[in-house]
Amino acid sequence: MKLSKIVIGTLFIASSIFASEQVTRWGYTGHGSPEHWGELDTQNVMCKLGHNQSPINITRDVEVDTKNLEPINFHYVSESLNVVDNGHTIQVNIKEGSTIEVDKKVFELKQFHFHAPSENEIDSKQFPLEAHLVHMAKDGSLAVVAILFEEGKENPLLNKVWEKMPHDAGAEAPVSVTTQEINEFLPKDKSYYRFDGSLTTPPCSEGVRWFVFKHYDTVSKEQVEQFLHVMHHPNNRPIQDIGARKVLD
Ligand SMILES: [Zn+2]
Repeated sequence: MKLSKIVIGTLFIASSIFASEQVTRWGYTGHGSPEHWGELDTQNVMCKLGHNQSPINITRDVEVDTKNLEPINFHYVSESLNVVDNGHTIQVNIKEGSTIEVDKKVFELKQFHFHAPSENEIDSKQFPLEAHLVHMAKDGSLAVVAILFEEGKENPLLNKVWEKMPHDAGAEAPVSVTTQEINEFLPKDKSYYRFDGSLTTPPCSEGVRWFVFKHYDTVSKEQVEQFLHVMHHPNNRPIQDIGARKVLD
């Protein structure tokens, strides 16, 4: 997952002022690939040393601490702002006003973006695509809601986004995804797995609340291929040790 464009934009500006031609940029291939993220920048220390890193393999053995989790209260009332190719993913930014409430705390939906193949796994099963809906509370804390996609029928929302997605890193384009389309993108049954984790991209900051829907959406093979064609390569961080964490469901 990623911080909102605004927050990460500030980091980019700061880091590019000091960056020389020799600096390796983070990515998913070569010297910038995930196993090197921790060494690319001192700010990325958690990528290497963190104990609550994402993504994870959600397995039955770690779901021992089961209890009835309270439903996430979705209140999505705004539409899309634009679609951005930030060089690492395709991201749809959302106009302000949409929120979720969980842990008696309100988090605002900032953006959603995609990883192919999936980052989180269920019982070691990887999926062709995963969407991350990134929410931020007023105090800056983050909550990510993840949707996993199985191969099947093409997804109408993805069709709309893919049609408009820029093919150049750094480019943005207008896209009109309606409030209704965003709500229909979510599974009807909103039961979920929950765990503590991190950003799955540098700086891999921890303290992120993760909610992965148990019910999958579908994506067509062609839609996954279209996404990978624009990205040029898979954009998933490998799974991380679960350590002492427990997954709740
Ligand atoms: Zn993500």
